[in-house]
Amino acid sequence: MDSTPVLTGSGFRSEQFPDDGSPGLVVVTGASSGIGAAVARALSAAGRPLLLMARRAELLDALQLDRCLTASVDVTDEEAVRAAVVHAERLHGPVDAIVNCAGVAHLGEFATQHSEVWQETLAVNVVGLMITTRAVLTGMIERGSGSIVNISSVAGRRGFADHVAYCASKFAVEGLSAALRSEVARHGVRVTVIAPGVVATDLGRVAASEDAWLRRQQLVDLVDGGLPPDAVAAAVVRAIEAPPGECIHELVLTHVRES
Ligand code: NDP
Repeated sequence: MDSTPVLTGSGFRSEQFPDDGSPGLVVVTGASSGIGAAVARALSAAGRPLLLMARRAELLDALQLDRCLTASVDVTDEEAVRAAVVHAERLHGPVDAIVNCAGVAHLGEFATQHSEVWQETLAVNVVGLMITTRAVLTGMIERGSGSIVNISSVAGRRGFADHVAYCASKFAVEGLSAALRSEVARHGVRVTVIAPGVVATDLGRVAASEDAWLRRQQLVDLVDGGLPPDAVAAAVVRAIEAPPGECIHELVLTHVRES
């Protein structure tokens, strides 16, 4: 099967991007909704050209951002991810940063969950993130610069009922990010982990069991609906736009009422 993704988007012509030190290309995964869409909008407002990835290409295109390529890609498809990056780099030059937002949450009781759900959670949240990161990492190491921003969760630091597979995946994101930082810091590549608390998105709404979703909504109500996605996006922009000699390792960001 040909897994070359179809790249669409506005305003991308190679002559528009001379090698004059203008801001570099940023890849955002999971940009079709929620935090990823907010990150894409914030980075675009900061003047960054973008490559956006998710499966629902129509939602990526609906963002209508300038200098933005979109690719309908499943992050677990290594060949498709790599092809999208190669296409985008041909048009704009090297990827300067990646923001890994793609993720799934299947909330529910571990004892009764189907194991396929665990497989998908780990495949997307962990292996998918590793695939997209490596697709841009070799070039970053060669150039001696780059930023990798991984969206983890407070569920990557604490256990929550109904979140067994999700916590497993986010603890993994925390661990792999710390290990990767140890590997690539000497090459001038930054690895930042952002761990938000409750954010007002539809994450898990479709996949959750009815009971688990009701329990989540009770928690969400306690924190006034949670953080707006734009708050996480602003933190991402801070990490990417930090002076080149600085690296924000970790940031835990919650609504003020979330302890
Ligand atoms: P959304 O459900 O709005 O966004 C999830 C994104 O991931 C979508 O764009 C979806 O796009 C994409 N995605 C899912 N599976 C795949 C796949 N196989 N390949 C490519 N893209 C995929 O939720 P959020 O914005 O809330 O979630 C974004 C990140 O933030 C996730 O990693 C989540 O774990 C994390 N997070 C969220 C919190 C919250 O309370 N909302 C709290 C802490 C962390 P598509 O379906 O089009 O492929």
